[in-house]
Amino acid sequence: MAVPAHRLQIAGTVGESIVDGEGYRYTIFTQGCPHNCFGCHNPQTHAFHGGRQVEPAKLLRDILDNPLLEGVTFSGGEPFCQAAVLAELGRELKGSGLTIWCYTGYTLEALLGSRQQAVRHLLQQIDVLVDGPYIEEQRDISLLFRGSRNQRLIDVPQTLAKGQIILHPDQ
Ligand code: SF4
Repeated sequence: MAVPAHRLQIAGTVGESIVDGEGYRYTIFTQGCPHNCFGCHNPQTHAFHGGRQVEPAKLLRDILDNPLLEGVTFSGGEPFCQAAVLAELGRELKGSGLTIWCYTGYTLEALLGSRQQAVRHLLQQIDVLVDGPYIEEQRDISLLFRGSRNQRLIDVPQTLAKGQIILHPDQ
């Protein structure tokens, strides 16, 4: 990815979402995704050169201006394609008492196998990871916060501490 480390390439943001995790959340839709899941609801986020660049500091100011927010959700696109800048933003947000949810088309096992330090740094900032690609054949509209049955809501701090997958209670 050719995005400078101090900039984030985004498709857009939603200031107050109730569908991307628990409570009122600020959702950042990153731009660029390599997974190409059949039936993806956000195909406009796939191109790595689409969207627009923003300074994380500006997003941080917008988010901290809203006292109603419980947390921030990184969605996509594929957030882990911009792991370094999101890890830094996530660290600032968590320091301000906000929770971080993150959607990814990778499985947690694949992310843990990555040699990129930034991937590990981003995982360390995440409270709940919604992992795995969207699989149209496993689509289920009754699922909370996920689109297909293969996807998991993972409690990342507990999982990293115990060395085994611990699912979030909303799973
Ligand atoms: S990972 Fe998400 S954004 Fe990327 S193709 Fe799959 S459903 Fe779409």
